[in-house]
Amino acid sequence: MNEPMSGPTSEPASAPASGLPVLMYHAVGSAMPPRLAELSVPPALLAEQLAALAGAGYELLGLTDALAARGSGRRVVGLTFDDGYRDFLDAAVPVLADLRAGATLYVPSRNIGGTADWLPGSGADLPLLDARGIAVVAQLGLEVGSHGAVHVPMDVLPRPVAAAQLGESKAVLEQVVGRPVVSFCYPHGYASPVLRRQVHASGYDNACVIGHRVSPPGEDPTAVSRLLVGPQHDPAAVLDLVAGRGPRSIVPALKRAATPVWRATRRTARLAGATWT
Ligand SMILES: [Zn+2]
Repeated sequence: MNEPMSGPTSEPASAPASGLPVLMYHAVGSAMPPRLAELSVPPALLAEQLAALAGAGYELLGLTDALAARGSGRRVVGLTFDDGYRDFLDAAVPVLADLRAGATLYVPSRNIGGTADWLPGSGADLPLLDARGIAVVAQLGLEVGSHGAVHVPMDVLPRPVAAAQLGESKAVLEQVVGRPVVSFCYPHGYASPVLRRQVHASGYDNACVIGHRVSPPGEDPTAVSRLLVGPQHDPAAVLDLVAGRGPRSIVPALKRAATPVWRATRRTARLAGATWT
């Protein structure tokens, strides 16, 4: 009597979601100002987080490779690192190499060899990779993507300016890495439909936003959702995050729920420099 009730109804509910989890990291080990602490993960914790994913059977790939694996049935997690902090080479690359993991590093091209000058306080002094360091990243087989020419919200730039910056950063980075640059990451995460079309028209194959969710099947490849991982995520929390479940996902869920409020206030917030990703 019980069996027919549990059988047919439980199958679809327990089928694994075919979404693609894409993790968003920033600095690895560098000290951020206190209110931006979630943007820096200690190297040892990064190693634990990624080892937990590999141990659970996930392939760890850069965004372009992760998207290519979509629908293949492979268990994949995309790894992305925003901004091109100098610590990526010293602190993240050894962890990735140990796990034979791929990743995509997003670089704002006019800040190459400079600092994260869009961040507040001491964050503005954080050193970014120079061209030689970025070239090494690419030579190691990791993907280098564009984070724009300048780290500003691009959806509110005049269209010709946005188009010029999309083309400029692609050309500069391709010169640095000696290969096509096909992945883009919206500075501060803001992507309007117009800007998405410009990204596509500029020759990028994919682009990522923040999203705070597992990228669902069929999501627009020019606005791929990501999950912010910070120092507050122990390995179990990261496993919950990629599975799109668990109480540890509450913070991202709240942020997602708050998105309309952010949108409503974002022009003020942007002028005040309140978003840093
Ligand atoms: Zn950024």
